[in-house]
Amino acid sequence: MNSTESRRQFLRQAGLSAAVAALAGPGAVAAVASPLTNTMQNDDKKKLGWAVVGLGKFATEQIMPNFKDCKHSKLVALVSGTPDKAKKLAKEYGIDEKSVYDYQNFDSIKDNPAVDIVYIILPNSMHAEYTIRAAQAGKHVLCEKPMATSEEDCKKMIDACNKAGKKLMIAYRAQYEPYNLDAIARIKKGELGKIKFITADHGRHVKPTEDKADVWRVQKKLAGGGSLMDIGIYSLNAARYLTGEEPVEVTAQIYSDPNDPRFKEVEDNVAFTLRFPSGALACCTSSYSYQSVKRGRIFGEKAWLDLDPISDYYEHNMKIGKEDGEMEPKIQEGNQFAAEMDHMSESVMQNKTPRTPGEEGLRDVRYMMAIYEAAKKGKSVKV
Ligand code: NAD
Repeated sequence: MNSTESRRQFLRQAGLSAAVAALAGPGAVAAVASPLTNTMQNDDKKKLGWAVVGLGKFATEQIMPNFKDCKHSKLVALVSGTPDKAKKLAKEYGIDEKSVYDYQNFDSIKDNPAVDIVYIILPNSMHAEYTIRAAQAGKHVLCEKPMATSEEDCKKMIDACNKAGKKLMIAYRAQYEPYNLDAIARIKKGELGKIKFITADHGRHVKPTEDKADVWRVQKKLAGGGSLMDIGIYSLNAARYLTGEEPVEVTAQIYSDPNDPRFKEVEDNVAFTLRFPSGALACCTSSYSYQSVKRGRIFGEKAWLDLDPISDYYEHNMKIGKEDGEMEPKIQEGNQFAAEMDHMSESVMQNKTPRTPGEEGLRDVRYMMAIYEAAKKGKSVKV
């Protein structure tokens, strides 16, 4: 083995142990979904019952199939406005037809003791109504990002869950993903030195004429906003969980091609900066019209760390650059969807506040409103 190879192997192992160390911290149990043993698969007593509300692209392609890797969560009910689709999926997932609801009779889910947790995967502006109705039906709630389309709605959701004595968690899957957890652990350990700067970019082509899931994304009433609310939120949230700080000031510019029919109601390109109390700065972008990008880079005094992608569903890469060279730690990919859902189930079972509660969702919505305000005024906004 030559010195480059041995260094690479050492760095790979270092990466793995850092990941293990990261996972040994708070929330470790939820971080990686290991293959299920037969005992766990059969022991449904350890699993809470989940209802999925909204059987769209993300629910059917990512969330529902990933219950198979959950240790503490099982899918037991569906809520949909399309009876044929719901019936077909219920059959596929072995769900009792009596546990299939529509948006009108959704409230009767309160009489279904098999359902402990309701997962809201609807267009953004519908999150508030269904979270509140779920809490009033006596169910705990996991709600997709962005939490809602206004701060008022976020507060109403938090209040409704508090009043009902139910947990509310926002589905920030990256905060349950091994590469991101490893990066957080390295930063906390001081491996990068003092954090000075973060860059984060999220972009993809939105295609409402080709993809049904993009139709509501360009409608302000349902989406609340454009690329910022949908994917810029990953850049914003990453800047916060990587620094471990809350921003104190934001600046922003927004530009959408006035001749592009997709952007009559919502924005396309957003460039925003965040200033944190330590002096760290984040420079973030989001766009609905550049090639798929999901990346983040953290610049510390001693090293930089790249995550590219930072927020993919199944694949991540890390690179670290120091004065004496670069390394690419390999960390075992984990099922972030299963980890996230199990964290919610465990929070309920152990009566603990989830790591990404409603208040976390509210903060991002507040900062996004400040970003819109800063862009509109052409001035920085204190938050
Ligand atoms: P989608 O359009 O595929 O699904 C939305 C579902 O809501 C559909 O089943 C649709 O029938 C239903 N619906 C009910 N009333 C509706 C109405 N008035 N208009 C439109 N649809 C209505 O969208 P999606 O991509 O699955 O996104 C749903 C939610 O999940 C959004 O909040 C989105 O931000 C979030 N999401 C999160 C991730 C993630 O990685 N965490 C990824 C994609 C989407």
